[in-house]
Amino acid sequence: MKRLRNTSGIPDKKVKEVVDWIGGTLGLSNFDVECRSSQHSFAGRAYTHGSTYHSSRRPFVVLRVGTETVDRWHAGNKSALRKSWLASAPQPAVKVSKNRFPCFVRPYQYRQHKGKRYVLANRLETLVYLAAHELRHLWQAARLTDRRKSAPLPMAWGSKGKYSEVDTEAFAIHTLREWRRQ
Ligand SMILES: [Zn+2]
Repeated sequence: MKRLRNTSGIPDKKVKEVVDWIGGTLGLSNFDVECRSSQHSFAGRAYTHGSTYHSSRRPFVVLRVGTETVDRWHAGNKSALRKSWLASAPQPAVKVSKNRFPCFVRPYQYRQHKGKRYVLANRLETLVYLAAHELRHLWQAARLTDRRKSAPLPMAWGSKGKYSEVDTEAFAIHTLREWRRQ
């Protein structure tokens, strides 16, 4: 990895460790990473030829990892609402937080992934899963243009097309299992 912008709350050192480990497996090093928080469990995007938003032509990935808790605001219960109406007082709002993790992920439902779902135990596992998925997209692009640099790995069984989601999901699940074994 060339450049990291990290506002996710996961320490830079951890993000680097995960990303460089996966990059090493794929034979990739010339790319940038932006790691942020998300209100969803995770969200990611791979820019295989850089982007104007990023203002660099280096490939880069955006990795957004879900916050530790899911927070919702609730107005008070019915009798509290009624009382506050009678008293013309503002209703109290209550913040309700629940833990996001462990959470389930359903891979792109196709071929060998149909009906499968997997557990992500915490933010770090989510980062591993997501980084593997998005970096695999960079690898899919690189394998066709710079064979010398990217690792000569086969695409996953059942893959179709250049940016196969069957392939990225298979790699992400495999990578998460390898991470747990360490
Ligand atoms: Zn994808």
